[in-house]
Amino acid sequence: MSASHPVVAVYPGSFDPITRGHEDIVRRALHVADRLIVAVAHTATQSKSGLFSVDERLDLLREVFAGEDNVEACAFEGLLVEFARTRGVRFVIRGLRAVSDFEYELQMTQMNRELWPDMETIFLAPEVDYSFLSSSLVREVARLGGDIGRFVSPVVAERVRAKLKGE
Ligand code: ADP
Repeated sequence: MSASHPVVAVYPGSFDPITRGHEDIVRRALHVADRLIVAVAHTATQSKSGLFSVDERLDLLREVFAGEDNVEACAFEGLLVEFARTRGVRFVIRGLRAVSDFEYELQMTQMNRELWPDMETIFLAPEVDYSFLSSSLVREVARLGGDIGRFVSPVVAERVRAKLKGE
């Protein structure tokens, strides 16, 4: 890291919604990068079990990281390598919760390397308390009436509650 060549990394995902596990990875990523772009992937076919639109996910990310000038949230469509190349970003951050994440993550990393050999993927492990946490489980627990307060920031919990009321 240096002032003249800041290290910028991208952390891609669906973030539907952002959890404390994602937040933990963002904070750890800032130990190795000067700036982080949290990039919400537009998927062509939005899953039926999804909760928030891409714009709503971006709003939540911006609220959660409101105090962090070195974290930027944006959306991207298509290939991650194209997004990263356009932004001039060569480092990708991914979280590894358990061995079950590993096979898919490694496969994707190798494919991305085929597509753009200059891009490096950095894997970070979260605090063990968050190693069971996923956005899909948070959505499921919330839909079944469970308390998600320990798994997401207060602003996210509030927005999930409001969204489910309107569903
Ligand atoms: P999810 O799997 O929760 O739907 P995303 O698709 O948004 O999350 O995942 C984006 C990245 O964040 C992936 O690399 C994923 O492995 C990682 N990630 C998700 N939840 C956690 C967590 N609790 N701890 C660490 N990494 C996580």
